[in-house]
Amino acid sequence: MSEFSSAITLLNSDKSAWWLSTAGLERVRQNLRVSEYRTRAEIEQMRPAGRFVAEVLSALIAHADVGVNLLELDALAHQMIRDRGAESCYINYHPSFGASPFGRVLCTSVNDAVLHGLPHDYELVDGDLISLDFAASVDGWVSDSAISVIVGSPRRQDQHLIATAEAALAAGIAAATPGNKIGDISFAIARVGSQAGYKINTEFGGHGVGRTMHGDPHVPNNGRRGRGLLLRPGLVIAIEPWFLAGTDKIYTDSDGWTLRSRDGSRGAHAEHTVAITNDGPLVLTAR
Ligand code: MG
Repeated sequence: MSEFSSAITLLNSDKSAWWLSTAGLERVRQNLRVSEYRTRAEIEQMRPAGRFVAEVLSALIAHADVGVNLLELDALAHQMIRDRGAESCYINYHPSFGASPFGRVLCTSVNDAVLHGLPHDYELVDGDLISLDFAASVDGWVSDSAISVIVGSPRRQDQHLIATAEAALAAGIAAATPGNKIGDISFAIARVGSQAGYKINTEFGGHGVGRTMHGDPHVPNNGRRGRGLLLRPGLVIAIEPWFLAGTDKIYTDSDGWTLRSRDGSRGAHAEHTVAITNDGPLVLTAR
């Protein structure tokens, strides 16, 4: 029985649900969430989007340097989108937590910014830590990926932060196998972060990816082993650990988008779009 039909059964059998408490309604709402599963052929169709997103991030990494403006990086990504005939997932993106449509095609989060960084008129300086998050749709399929890099001379603590985000991503991907559950991915991510001495924020995490950028299931960056949705072949998810050096508390910048650490410490982010297959995790956005 699919999750959807389970939910319908629940609605039909649990008549009390119709007048009930917020908790009861929340239970119904949770049960109505549907994670989509892709066929092998559909996962093949998703590969070009993954390759394109990887290519754009590689070009951005090569271009990011001291003196480069964040708007230049956004313009480069935008030109690549046009050249490929792809579609941006960000430019018209306007979720409940965003002040207005995003208006750019790339997230550039610098230093104390870690997620949803709105590109603005800023030239990178020596030692800046920049997180680049990019999602686009090619032939109707989305891929989503992020990486953090340092421009100019690196600080040791920034290298450690980035290496930890990458190690957590690798651990999360390794847990993305049929028979495991979402909680196994979440647990693997948090274990790497905690062992490196970072606190884990669970407000923003990974998500289902398909025809749109954000679908079910949510993939939290902390969780319990063996809990949550069973991972079955065909599930495609973005796994995206991010850590701040000194805190797990964030606030939204006055631009209405950029999320920054409350204590001013730097952040790092690593993300891949991954298909669960019988042959193991397939990283669609591998660079
Ligand atoms: Mg992303």
